[in-house]
Amino acid sequence: MRFWRQLRWQMIGAQMLVVVVGVVTLNLTANILIEQSIAPDQVATVRTAVVQALTVAAVAATIAGLTTSILLVQVILRSLRSIARSSRRIAAGRYDERVTVPASDELRAVAESFNQMAEALEQIEQRRITMIGNVAHELRTPLAGIEGYLEGLIDGVLPNTADTFLDMKQEVRRLRRLVDDLQTLSRVEAGQIALHFTTFDVNDVIRRVVAQIQPQVLDSCLQVQFAPDQQPILVHADADRVAQILLNLLGNAVRYTPEGGCITVRSELNNDNVQVIVEDTGIGISAEHLPFIFERFYRADPSRARTSGGSGIGLTIARHLAWAMGGDISAASAGIGKGSTFTLTLPRAG
Ligand code: ADP
Repeated sequence: MRFWRQLRWQMIGAQMLVVVVGVVTLNLTANILIEQSIAPDQVATVRTAVVQALTVAAVAATIAGLTTSILLVQVILRSLRSIARSSRRIAAGRYDERVTVPASDELRAVAESFNQMAEALEQIEQRRITMIGNVAHELRTPLAGIEGYLEGLIDGVLPNTADTFLDMKQEVRRLRRLVDDLQTLSRVEAGQIALHFTTFDVNDVIRRVVAQIQPQVLDSCLQVQFAPDQQPILVHADADRVAQILLNLLGNAVRYTPEGGCITVRSELNNDNVQVIVEDTGIGISAEHLPFIFERFYRADPSRARTSGGSGIGLTIARHLAWAMGGDISAASAGIGKGSTFTLTLPRAG
């Protein structure tokens, strides 16, 4: 009885059932009417005429039912087969596969949803490929550096001194930072970062991070201004992760602000949120780059960022961490040479 599970037989069966029920009902009603209103000597003749009429009607209804069922089933099956075929191709890695969208509303909705899913899968695959390419590219730079030092040492071009090994160590550190960042990125994107929410004064964290970044600030001949009010600004978040985000924002501000520049940090209460604003007088970000700086490996100026050790994933991690704590980060800049402003928004305590 497996054929009863097939849509085409179910449709045909349904149509036939309608014909049979129609014919039986008509026959019964006709019989009642004949017995009530026809003269007894004419009953047999009228009954024969009714049976003939019902037979013709039943044959006509069956033909019409079968034809419409078959046509309808063909349309539905064509769409379903096309979706099944495309699913198999996508499963085999052909992410550019799409189904043709049929005219009927319901089938169109299914086909459009399928195509949207295929497009989402294609984008994920594209991002995966780009990510592998980016990782390989990022690893190549420090590895090439280490290889260069080793070749120089082997050939005797570089002196076998502590300075050379310190330079090599710098490259290894860069490699390590990149691998650590990649690991954090994958965990944060997968939502696997454990957060310890507490209520704390965000100004305390800012003070701690400003003190931590001070050696770099002095090295770069910059100035950091942070003059909070006496009132604590309480947030409900993970203090260590907030510090990690601010360290990234301040680190970037130091990295992208030329000597003599100034970095200002402010904290403000704003309805249900607290905002921490990191503003610098640095190189700024052009409008064309601004929308992309939170994307993985994106650098507004690749050569400059790479020489200064930037991997282009710091802001991606920072934004994911902010999201995980119910906050966000946004960036603004009036353009090249006009400084940048990064705003970290966090949920206010209570
Ligand atoms: P990186 O490690 O390269 O700094 P990020 O993800 O932290 O990576 O930043 C991405 C890009 O955003 C940087 O390469 C830089 O082009 C731009 N950027 C970030 N912060 C600033 C800033 N304060 N001033 C100017 N450009 C910035």
